[in-house]
Amino acid sequence: MQSTLQFYGGTGTVTGSNFLLETESPSTSFDKTQDKPLGSTRIRILVDCGLIQGKHTAELDNWAAFPYEPASVQYLVVTHAHIDHIGRIPKLVKEGFRGKIISTEATKSLVEPLLLDSMELLAHDARKHGRLPLYDTGDIANAMGLWESVAYHRKVALPGDFVLEFYDAGHILGSAMAVFTREGKSIAFTGDLGGGNSPLLPPVEDIPHVDYLVMESVYGDRVRSADQNRRDTLENVIEDTAARKGALLIPAFSTERTQDLLFEIRTLMVEKRIPSMPVYADSPLAQKITASYLAHPEYFAPAIRVRLEAGENIFAFPELRFVESAEESRGIQSTKGPMIIIAGSGMSNGGRVHSHEKNILPDKHSTLLIVGYQAAGSLGRRLAEGDKNVRIMGQQTPVRCRVEAIYGYSAHMDSQELLEFVNKTMGKLKEVFVVMGEPASSSFLAQRIRDYLGTKATVPEIGSTVTLNV
Ligand SMILES: [Zn+2]
Repeated sequence: MQSTLQFYGGTGTVTGSNFLLETESPSTSFDKTQDKPLGSTRIRILVDCGLIQGKHTAELDNWAAFPYEPASVQYLVVTHAHIDHIGRIPKLVKEGFRGKIISTEATKSLVEPLLLDSMELLAHDARKHGRLPLYDTGDIANAMGLWESVAYHRKVALPGDFVLEFYDAGHILGSAMAVFTREGKSIAFTGDLGGGNSPLLPPVEDIPHVDYLVMESVYGDRVRSADQNRRDTLENVIEDTAARKGALLIPAFSTERTQDLLFEIRTLMVEKRIPSMPVYADSPLAQKITASYLAHPEYFAPAIRVRLEAGENIFAFPELRFVESAEESRGIQSTKGPMIIIAGSGMSNGGRVHSHEKNILPDKHSTLLIVGYQAAGSLGRRLAEGDKNVRIMGQQTPVRCRVEAIYGYSAHMDSQELLEFVNKTMGKLKEVFVVMGEPASSSFLAQRIRDYLGTKATVPEIGSTVTLNV
């Protein structure tokens, strides 16, 4: 059997993940006179439908028409709830998609709050550029109405005789690799792969040997340094904050990173390794996401799952306050330290974190803690590189606070781990399509796969089509 794979997003770039698997299936109507099916049906299965993020010029592409007819797609398979994998789903539904959407249950539970949050940001962008909103709450509700969930390792029969199975990708709660099999041939989409360093999630699962692999490469050209004990560094920074009676500001993504931090800070407080002080989780979105995490104990690493199932709230402690209103958020700034503020937006690109930064960066008693990768050009990156004067909300702001970074929180495999992952799937591997990375990162990983594993590896062009023996 043959099918085609079309690369419509997340190709030559990290975001906008969108792949179309297409095949012909014999019609179920039968021509009795000829003793054969009456023609064939076109089967279209999408994997992910993510938002394009990054430079504003690229983000305007989100408003462009899909390069296929949404109404002609029967299934959308979703690897995980990050917005660069789900952010255009309501637009797909708005423009005619009426098929089924499939993901794990944990992914499904995270999607709605994340889409509602993204909608607000997109509406702001749309107004600025004189465009209509990309979608509205009705489109999100319609998408959720089409959504079905399936557990890891539960085989799902799809049209065209494909069988779908999810494997744990260890990246965020509910994240999955999607493996499609037909007549003994298979293709796997990795989605994003976890770095195996999450305090909450199990490591990336092994998948069976496959014929084709569509492989992420966010860190395709980077190796994570292993010489830093993350919890010890966090402990030192918090102790220093207490001694100087300042504020510790940690900009963090609302999904996964905030929960990692709450869990680690709670552990340090319970073990009395750090002094008691107020901890503000300043993001209504993070509060909703944390509630979704707690509702799905079966998706956690075994040791954590046991604690959750015994009724322990692994994210709660007396010093923690989730901050809901903007007024309450501003109120924190007139509070005296020591205190810890975890605020939304991981790369200091917007959200409440900016008003905290305006306040905290000039204060020599305070600390800014950067956790995770900061994209080139972002404010977080400039601060991490030691810039002593930055522009925030239109104002020059001097940086007099201590700036620290912990890189052990990355939610992605590094270059070496990605190569080892490919090596494990090698038995009958015909080709690896290296996607979801910046061009240099994808090319570097493809080259290493060719050189070290002797396997065909390519970086597809955006919009290109390949024919598969699946
Ligand atoms: Zn992701």
